[in-house]
Amino acid sequence: MGRKFVVGGNWKMNGDKKQVTEIVDTLKKGPLDANVEVVVGVPAIYLEYVQSIVPNTINVAAQNCWKSPKGAFTGEISPAMIKDIGANWVILGHSERRTIFGEKDDLVAEKVAHALESGLKVIACIGETLEEREAGKTEEVVFRQTKALLPAIGSNWDKVVLAYEPVWAIGTGKTATPQQAQDVHASLRNWLSANASADVANSVRIQYGGSVTAANAKELAACPDIDGFLVGGASLKPEFVDIVNATQ
Ligand code: PEP
Repeated sequence: MGRKFVVGGNWKMNGDKKQVTEIVDTLKKGPLDANVEVVVGVPAIYLEYVQSIVPNTINVAAQNCWKSPKGAFTGEISPAMIKDIGANWVILGHSERRTIFGEKDDLVAEKVAHALESGLKVIACIGETLEEREAGKTEEVVFRQTKALLPAIGSNWDKVVLAYEPVWAIGTGKTATPQQAQDVHASLRNWLSANASADVANSVRIQYGGSVTAANAKELAACPDIDGFLVGGASLKPEFVDIVNATQ
């Protein structure tokens, strides 16, 4: 079976109740390609509200969660809480979590493991900085980040989407060229074939993220190893509909 295209919108710390309602209204009008899985990454405080107003064709994700079900972790939310309000996804290891909040590979892996154990699906983000790319270390970095996830994911690869997001392309307006993105996706699949299994390599969906817009989405979507997008800025705008529909 082919890999179903999956497009995530990462709203980050943006929007208020009025704006998130407008975004959902725009998505409801769509029309959104029914063959594409759509996931919106919502600020924690609006998760329950957004979950209550989206149609069941749109999935809701938290943008982070903690690595245990409950306890003395002020300010955190758990996978159990995310599930309790009806959402089924979480974005983990986003580069903003890694750089601004100091999340290292091992913590990201612990979070992924606990989220999966709790029954959530996970968008797991990886990607190199500009410095790392210029030093020729792109593959080394994304392989290291993915390797840390292997024991955490175990046999749950069907519940995981990898998001390759070169840090230099996130929120910068600098998109990776389709060839640059395709090259990393293809080498990641080769690496997975050698280090997980051929089945995982063939079946796991790998999103590209980094300044995706309606203007560049079609060309990126045409690459054989790009199975969707994780979209920041443009997911707050009506053009997100065109990004979802990029394979049409
Ligand atoms: C992101 O936040 O995951 C992202 C890719 O942001 P942007 O689309 O704004 O570059």
